[in-house]
Amino acid sequence: MNVSDTVHYVFLAAAACFVLGLHLMNHPRTARRGNTLSAAAMAVAIAATVWLVADEGTISRTGWLVLASGGLVGAALGLYAAREVEMTAMPQLVSLFNAVGGGAAALIAVNDLLRIENAGARVSVPGALDIVIGAVTFSGSLVAAGKLQGLVSGAPIVFPGARPLNVLLPASFVAGSVWLVLAPNSRTALYGLVAVALLFGVTLVLPIGGADMPVVIALLNAFTGSAVAMAGFVLDETALIIAGMLVSSSGGILTKLMADAMNRSIAGIMVGGFGTSDSAPATGGTGGVPAQVRSVSADDVAVQLAYASKVVFVPGYGLAAAQAQHELGDLAKLLTGHGIDVSYAVHPVAGRMPGHMNVLLAEANVPYTQLKEMDEINPEFPQADVALVIGANDVTNPIARRPGNAISGMPILDVDKARSVVVIKRSMGHGYAGIDNELYTNPKTGMFFTDAKKGLSELKAAVGEFVG
Ligand code: NDP
Repeated sequence: MNVSDTVHYVFLAAAACFVLGLHLMNHPRTARRGNTLSAAAMAVAIAATVWLVADEGTISRTGWLVLASGGLVGAALGLYAAREVEMTAMPQLVSLFNAVGGGAAALIAVNDLLRIENAGARVSVPGALDIVIGAVTFSGSLVAAGKLQGLVSGAPIVFPGARPLNVLLPASFVAGSVWLVLAPNSRTALYGLVAVALLFGVTLVLPIGGADMPVVIALLNAFTGSAVAMAGFVLDETALIIAGMLVSSSGGILTKLMADAMNRSIAGIMVGGFGTSDSAPATGGTGGVPAQVRSVSADDVAVQLAYASKVVFVPGYGLAAAQAQHELGDLAKLLTGHGIDVSYAVHPVAGRMPGHMNVLLAEANVPYTQLKEMDEINPEFPQADVALVIGANDVTNPIARRPGNAISGMPILDVDKARSVVVIKRSMGHGYAGIDNELYTNPKTGMFFTDAKKGLSELKAAVGEFVG
């Protein structure tokens, strides 16, 4: 068997590992193994590609130097970013990775079209698609990351003529792509297409509100996959095609699941204008609180928890913002040690990225058996003595059961069905959807107005005095 055949078998094995890795990511217990398996398969596929290239002997000494330094710098930056970035900044990082992936895929096509004289349709068709999808992903992902990081305003930015421009630009890259396919040597068509696609990425993402960004990022991730698959066609690389299509299809499914869980259509999100950046606390402390809202203290809540037999924790975005997962895990341990049945209700879109709560709770070493998905936990709320909501808002808002509001139809956690409810948050400030939460004025709800980390620490100390 020659090197090329062997390498293609390696690609096939790597592709099988990618699929297996994705499957393992279905459950928090096996997710880490799935990630390691996929990463190892990718490392082997890269090594095999290098072996193939070396065997063909087509790369000059300078080429090898560029390849090695690019690989080293990229790996070092990736490793540093992945280790250092805060959990709450993960969506921005994913967005930057998307930008890099899309940009690299587009550059591959640009390079091939510049290099190959009179490229045939086999190169120019996927090449044009690669440029369009890759360049849109590159600039769109940079804007998305900027919005999430607060470098660009998180509010929807709509400028005069934006809508017609967003129709005109796609029309021009259809025309540009046709031109490039018919005249693959035309530099004007090539650079024009790159410029139009880059501009479209910006005008596409600017009108979308900061809080919708995670869905947009999942969509751009799917785009990155498609661009990479197109690059695979351009280079005739099976591994790239398979890996790209896996990213594309899983990104597409994720986008749909997220949009469904928010009861919003993908088209509605892309049109923009909904969801601003995260709201600051409405007022400092408890100022501006309506009369029918009942404020409670750490000691009040501690008594309730200490005498409960079943407690359900409901974590949300505020837990992530406060980085209070360890305090929550400690409180849960204290209660479990005292014989109290504890579980965590995990809503599919709690937080700001898919699996946000699972990741945070796993970081705090919460036992997986205590994590319950929405469908599993909802029937248990009526038996819960206390539902303790920590920085969750929209995913608990009973108004979603009624039509005519921003979250109508969104499935929610039935927190209001618990025997008593305690909500930890800093103020009466809104969540992502920007609407009042009826749970807070429910007579059985006590509001513990504080930062989640501080509040949970106080609770732990106060409960410790009762059960200690
Ligand atoms: P929300 O965004 O509805 O509410 C979060 C609450 O956390 C706020 O009301 C805020 O209130 C509180 N908070 C913020 N910081 C702190 C802090 N330091 N300590 C205590 N509380 C704090 O969060 P949910 O998780 O309930 O809902 C997620 C929302 O995001 C849904 O509407 C969902 O559709 C949307 N979304 C989710 C995505 C995902 O993939 N998970 C993707 C895109 C959107 P206060 O300021 O008063 O403290």
